[in-house]
Amino acid sequence: MTDCLFCKIAAGEIPSDTVYENDKILVFKDIYPKADVHLLIIPKQHYTDLPDIQEKDPDMMNYMMKMIPDIAKDQGLDTGFRTIINTGRGGGQEVFHIHIHLMAGPRLPGFK
Ligand code: 5GP
Ligand code: ZN
Repeated sequence: MTDCLFCKIAAGEIPSDTVYENDKILVFKDIYPKADVHLLIIPKQHYTDLPDIQEKDPDMMNYMMKMIPDIAKDQGLDTGFRTIINTGRGGGQEVFHIHIHLMAGPRLPGFK
């Protein structure tokens, strides 16, 4: 997707504060953090949202979910964390490249 913000971040065309990367996924800091720790996990390949990735590549979704505990451990989130996937405008999604919010810290926000 040429006009997708997170595709551009995944390609390194727009800088981001990366905390983890491999050939499949990128994990970077949210530019407007809503918690002390607020990371975004994205597949490098473009999928719009949860229904899109589940239809086209459910193994990738499963892979991202599988990676989350390891990422949380690497970040020292020993007491726990919150994961959020906003889906569609009605679900508060603003960037239409699927991403999982990973949040932690003493001041976790409420649900949108
Ligand atoms: P959504 O509302 O789509 O679930 O979440 C999109 C998230 O992307 C928001 O939390 C927002 O702060 C974050 N975001 C938007 N633009 C950028 C950007 O250019 N860089 C980074 N690192 N995060 C962004
Ligand atoms: Zn994209």
